Amino acid sequence: MKQPCVLVTGGAGYIGSHTTVELVAAGFDVVIADNLSNSELSAVDGVRRITGREIPFVELDCCDRAAMTRLFDQYDFDAVIHFAASKAVGESVREPLRYYRNNLTSFMNVVELMQATGRPNIVFSSSCTVYGEPDEQPVTERSPRKPATSPYGNTKQMCEDILLDTVAADKSLRGIALRYFNPIGAHPSGLIGELPRGVPQNLVPYITQTAAGIRECLAVFGDDYPTPDGSCIRDYIDVVDLARAHVAAIRRMIDGRCRERYEVFNIGTGRGVSVLELVRRFELVNGLKLNYRIAGRREGDIVAIWADPTRANEELGWHAERPLDETLASAWRWQRHLSGLD
Ligand code: UDP
Repeated sequence: MKQPCVLVTGGAGYIGSHTTVELVAAGFDVVIADNLSNSELSAVDGVRRITGREIPFVELDCCDRAAMTRLFDQYDFDAVIHFAASKAVGESVREPLRYYRNNLTSFMNVVELMQATGRPNIVFSSSCTVYGEPDEQPVTERSPRKPATSPYGNTKQMCEDILLDTVAADKSLRGIALRYFNPIGAHPSGLIGELPRGVPQNLVPYITQTAAGIRECLAVFGDDYPTPDGSCIRDYIDVVDLARAHVAAIRRMIDGRCRERYEVFNIGTGRGVSVLELVRRFELVNGLKLNYRIAGRREGDIVAIWADPTRANEELGWHAERPLDETLASAWRWQRHLSGLD
């Protein structure tokens, strides 16, 4: 029997590459489409080495309608997971049109082509950024979405709405939006992980690059927030756990187990961890001292957010499993691999 085939757009990226590995391990065929604008072919090689499979890779831009049409002519996709998007908050504020064009056009192409080819199952990679600064913790899927504070955040909300409205209008389609909290860590093999370009904007790559001596000192953005230790709180989710949530979502769709034709799930651990806690844990787990200093607050930062993942636990049968310590060890192992420190 033919295995279901999943198109993974942005499959050479951080979350896309880990998701491809888990999909293949779960018995799916995968085709990766990526324009390599913020990723490297080495990630595809890593995925092929881990899985032992010649996973097809198509270099294309999802905004290129003709190239996407050719891709859909070439393969029969049972489902798509759409990761391909630009994701730097600050850059989106400076170049809003580029963000709107890229993130919206690529997603609309994917949805239209799934519709045109009679393929029902669409998973969209959304973010807890849609909740803004929440009034209550932890956030559930019923917590209100807040006005976006950046064009990037706005594209996440808009793509959720595009999926919701399209699924409402076309009864043959199904959509799932997964709202990720803060993905960190790397594959246990040490063959794939995050590949930040330039100065990392996110906490964990900045920590590991500081530990490796690439950056001199980590700036902890604020210790005067209304939290127990004064630093911001996030829900750090292991990237392999996050990848498995996509497999659970695809299974739910393909097996016809969706309760609604458009569904939303929080993908987090349910545990809030402060920046300073994370730094101390990283030091302890990896037996090193990190050079860090307290700096001023970063503009636009949310004070605290963590997930209520009950719906994903119950409906997807998915749980965050990897302990934080293992995740932090994997992040450091990956950095050592990148820096040639082993
Ligand atoms: N952060 C920090 N120093 C850095 C990068 C991030 O203190 O160099 C803090 C940031 O202020 C936030 C947390 O780490 O409180 C997570 O930030 P990240 O950019 O990784 O994710 P997001 O802000 O999107 O949740």
